[in-house]
Amino acid sequence: MLKGFIAGLAVANAFEWFAHKYILHGVHRPGQPRYSPVPKSMESHWAHHREVRKQEFSDDCYVEGVEHWRTRNEIMSLAVVAGVASVAFYPISKGMSLAALYSAGNYYYVHRRAHLEPDWARRTIPWHYDHHMNSNQDANWCVTRPWFDYVMGTRVVSSADLKEANPLGLPLPTALSKVLTQAIESVFPAKWVEQKPKLVAAQVEDEQQQESVA
Ligand SMILES: [Zn+2]
Ligand SMILES: [Zn+2]
Ligand SMILES: [Zn+2]
Repeated sequence: MLKGFIAGLAVANAFEWFAHKYILHGVHRPGQPRYSPVPKSMESHWAHHREVRKQEFSDDCYVEGVEHWRTRNEIMSLAVVAGVASVAFYPISKGMSLAALYSAGNYYYVHRRAHLEPDWARRTIPWHYDHHMNSNQDANWCVTRPWFDYVMGTRVVSSADLKEANPLGLPLPTALSKVLTQAIESVFPAKWVEQKPKLVAAQVEDEQQQESVA
């Protein structure tokens, strides 16, 4: 059950990556609009991106709730995916089936809260802050945890203060977090928007700040 559940979380995270990239953003075609197999969801998602950049990461569709067509679109899409996946996984693994339901619910909780409470988002899911606010919005595809962005090389960090403590995106003890980050990033390194010298300066600054607090 637990193994299946964890495998299910990994599958759901991979799905977040693929669905966000290929369904919500669509595939770029020179001289033509982007292609998505679900054009309505793509339209809804790009409207979300425009709103978020205008409103310093807030999106009023979550204030309005199900009255807003984009909120309904997101909830319906998640319900369909969770429904199909949980039924399909059930004969193979009840843990995976449960993970599909949990992941869909968690996705909605995290994404909604992020755009209602931008400060929470910066602290808790900085990868999604980068997704919206970086000049290149075609990166940082994962929303709940950044796992597949590390695997696929699409975690693009804009600044040191928006770098998660570890690639699992989990609140872990500092020492464990550091060891884990080194181990994972030796195979799947995060990419950085800024130039190296700037980055080192920012990190030094960060450490000095931490020391002065301690
Ligand atoms: Zn997006
Ligand atoms: Zn393009
Ligand atoms: Zn968003």
